[in-house]
Amino acid sequence: LTTFSDEARIALDTVAGRATSLFTPSLRLGVTGLSRAGKTVFISALVHNLVHGGRLPLFEAQKSGRIARAFLEQQPDDAVPRFQYEDHIAALVDQRIWPDSTRAISELRLTIEYESASGWNRMFSAGKLSVDIVDYPGEWLLDLPLLGKSYADFSNEAFELAALPVRADLAREWRTLSADASADADADELTARRLAESFAAYLKACKLDERALSTLPPGRFLMPGDLDGSPALTFAPLPGLGATRARPGSLHAMMERRYEAYKTHVVKPFFREHIARLDRQIVLIDAMQALNAGPAAMADLERAVTEILACFRPGRGSFLTDWFSRRIDRILIAATKADHLHHESHDRLQAIVRRLADRAIAKASFTGAAVDVVAMAAVRATREGTVKQGGETLPVIIGTPLAGERIGDQTFDGNTETAIFPGDLPKSVDAVFEDHRAADLDEVDPAVRFVRFRPPKLERTAEGVTLSLPHIRLDRALQFLIGDRLA
Ligand code: GDP
Repeated sequence: LTTFSDEARIALDTVAGRATSLFTPSLRLGVTGLSRAGKTVFISALVHNLVHGGRLPLFEAQKSGRIARAFLEQQPDDAVPRFQYEDHIAALVDQRIWPDSTRAISELRLTIEYESASGWNRMFSAGKLSVDIVDYPGEWLLDLPLLGKSYADFSNEAFELAALPVRADLAREWRTLSADASADADADELTARRLAESFAAYLKACKLDERALSTLPPGRFLMPGDLDGSPALTFAPLPGLGATRARPGSLHAMMERRYEAYKTHVVKPFFREHIARLDRQIVLIDAMQALNAGPAAMADLERAVTEILACFRPGRGSFLTDWFSRRIDRILIAATKADHLHHESHDRLQAIVRRLADRAIAKASFTGAAVDVVAMAAVRATREGTVKQGGETLPVIIGTPLAGERIGDQTFDGNTETAIFPGDLPKSVDAVFEDHRAADLDEVDPAVRFVRFRPPKLERTAEGVTLSLPHIRLDRALQFLIGDRLA
C-alpha cells in the first residue's frame, strides 16, 4: 500500500527529525479521543499548569524543583493550525466557560528548561525539551482500518453494525433509503448525496448524549475539517454487495471510486504526515458518559479503544505501521471528568478503565508500547464536602452547575454553587461490562447520572497572583507521558 514516494518521504522526515533533535530534543505527544472526550480542556490545563508552576506532586521534575521554566515557542510545522491556547485559557479562567472543542488537527510547542537529575546528564545535555503537542479528532484515527478494507467489506460491515439493537432504530431511515437504491443502477449525484447525508445523519445520531455510542468510520462524516461537501465525502455503503465487480457507470462504481479517493486523499496523508511521527500518545475517553448510558455504550467504547490501539500496533508487514518513522513507546488511556465523582470512587473508575484497556489490548493483540491508564480530571470543577442527612454524614461534591442543567424539578441558572450527591459507580467492575449484546436499551439502568459544572473559580494568593487550574491526577498523566525525558 505504501508507494515509493511515501517511503522516501518518511526516510527524509526521519533524517530531518534526527538532525533537529541534535539541537533541541523534542517529543511529539499525540492527544486524541472521540469528540467531547476532553482533549481541548486537557491540553489547556496541562500547559497552564506547567507554565504557571501548578501543584503537580506526582510529576517528579516539578516536585523536586528541577524545572527552571516552561514556555510556548513557535511550532515546527507551519502548515498545521496552532492550538489556540490563549483563547481557551481566557474562556476557562476569565469567563469560566468551557472552551471550543477540537474540530480538526492543531499543534502547540511547549519548551521545558530543566536541570537534569543526574550529574552525568547535566554535563552533556542542555536540559531543554520541546514537547510538540498534536491535538486531533479520534474519529480521524478510526478511519485507519479502512485502508485494509475494500468498499464491499466496508459496506457489509456498516450494515451489520447498523442492525445491532443499540443502533437499529437510529439507522432505520438510512437503511430504508439504501434498500431502495440499486447498486447496479446508473450513477446519479442526487442519489449519492441523499444516501451520504442520511448515512452521516445516522452516524451523528449515534453520538448524541443519551446513546453515547462511539463512532463508526468514515470519521470525516462526523468531523469534516475543511472537506465538508467534497466528493470524497459524498459516498455511503450500499447493501448486498458480493464479490461481483461494479459495472462501469453504475452507482456502485461511483461510490467505490469515492471511497477509494477518501482513502487516498484523506486517510493516507493524515496518517503519514501526523500519526507516523508521534512518540507518545494519550487517548482520552469519556467513561463517565458511557457508564451513564449503560453497558451497550461501554461495549461500544471498548470497541473504539480496541480499534484505536490497533492503529498504534507496531509490527513488520502491517500496512499501517510500515509508515512509522518514529515508534510510539508509551500510550496512556485516560478517563477524564473524574471530578464528577467523590475521590473514594476515583480508584473504582480507574479499575473500570483498566479492565476496558486490558480487554482492548487482548482483542487488538497489542504489543510494543507500554500502556497505562488513569482516572483524572484535567480541570477540577468541583470540591468535596459532606452533608448530614437523617443522622448520617454523606459525601457530596460542590460546584456550580451549568445554566440549564437539571436535577429533579430544579433547573440551575449557572451562578449558584450547589452540593450534589455524586454518582455511584457499580460495585463490581464486571457489572459494567456484562452482556452488552443482549442489552435492551429500555432496561438499562444508568449507573451514574451527573450534571455538568462550570469551570472553577481560580483562587488568588495574597499577592493577587492567580493560581493555576486545579486538577485531579493530571500530574500522574504528565509523569507517565514525559517524566522520563526530564530525568
Ligand atoms: P474535545 O472535543 O475532546 O476537545 O472535548 P473538550 O476538551 O472540549 O471537552 C468537552 C466537554 O467536556 C467540555 O466542554 C466540558 O464540559 C467537559 N470536560 C472536559 N474535561 C473536563 C474535566 O476535566 N472536568 C469536567 N468537569 N468537565 C470536563
